Amino acid sequence: MTQPTDLSSSIIPTLREKYGELLQENVVLANYTTAKVGGPADALIVASSSQELEDIFTTLWKLNCPVRLLASGANVLFSDAGFRGVVVLNHARNVKIDLHHETPSVWAESGANLASMARQAGLRNLTGMEWATTVPGSVGGAVYGNAGAFGSNTAASLKVAEILHPTEGKQEWPVEKLEYGYRTSWLKRNPGKVIILSARFELSSGQPEAIQAKMSEFSARRRETQPQGASMGSTFKNPEGDYAARLIEAAGLKGTRVGGAQISEKHANFFINVNNATASDYYSLIQLAKSRVSEAFGVSLELEIELVGDFSVGSQKSSGNRE
Ligand SMILES: Cc1cc2nc3c(=O)[nH]c(=O)nc-3n(C[C@H](O)[C@H](O)[C@H](O)COP(=O)(O)OP(=O)(O)OC[C@H]3O[C@@H](n4cnc5c(N)ncnc54)[C@H](O)[C@@H]3O)c2cc1C
Repeated sequence: MTQPTDLSSSIIPTLREKYGELLQENVVLANYTTAKVGGPADALIVASSSQELEDIFTTLWKLNCPVRLLASGANVLFSDAGFRGVVVLNHARNVKIDLHHETPSVWAESGANLASMARQAGLRNLTGMEWATTVPGSVGGAVYGNAGAFGSNTAASLKVAEILHPTEGKQEWPVEKLEYGYRTSWLKRNPGKVIILSARFELSSGQPEAIQAKMSEFSARRRETQPQGASMGSTFKNPEGDYAARLIEAAGLKGTRVGGAQISEKHANFFINVNNATASDYYSLIQLAKSRVSEAFGVSLELEIELVGDFSVGSQKSSGNRE
């Protein structure tokens, strides 16, 4: 594993001096992702508030240091080679609910847990984000990828996101500026260009029983249709007018296993880490699903999850490992 010379010889020593024990080195990313997969990052640093997030990113950007923000790791697949640079782990988790204005709103730092924020809003009789009580991950991850479920999504309630830009500093981006689409945004199409510090959602006042009933119904539906086990949720986006899970199942791949990664028997768009899977096991399974679905139905599946790092090496090794 080679590092850019200035990373090991100059950047990391500078960061060691600045952050001392707060800078962890050679950190295995599998411990920070929901699929429990991913090689080492050169360094990891935790940001506990949006102010810390701002300070850390300002420092790293000035040093020209390769950096990736990570929150719950529910939508990224880091390669087995890991990440050459610094991973910033977002623990900025403040949430505030404002019931005093005509339109009630919820503000949260980007590392706040989305489901917990949505539940807090529900407990204050605010409706509009019941869907989010069932989606793993952070507010920042949801704003980045337009997370959604049960017919709604982040874009539907987001009013404004506070963004940090490397040269232009802090800015308020109204929802329109994020150019949302299905599980995508300007941010996801331009990874690493800016980071989200916080977000404000506008909700409406609702009936407590109706809000609670919706939350219970959504979580029951999820338990019924989705498998347990370590995964990143849906691997591929649903193609226009169809479902990725239906296509993968129809291509005969339900239950297929590569190394320790398996296409779920319950929901074929969920790829489960059943036994110490590597990122290259996952990558081989992804390639297999893409090629079989393309051969059988002429549909080109597009990833919903993001691949980060180098997948060219390990994938060849594990493709002979198919069961
Ligand atoms: C069991 C399971 C079920 C799921 N079900 C759903 C579902 O129903 N609907 C759905 O939409 N998704 C679903 N997902 C996927 C996942 O929950 C969402 O994509 C979620 O929004 C990811 O948030 P995260 O905090 O884990 O992001 P991470 O995986 O930590 O990061 C994802 C990407 O966002 C970037 N990012 C994160 N925070 C910021 C920030 N503050 N500023 C800039 N960039 C940032 C990261 O750099 C990375 O590129 C599911 C996942 C699992 C494991």
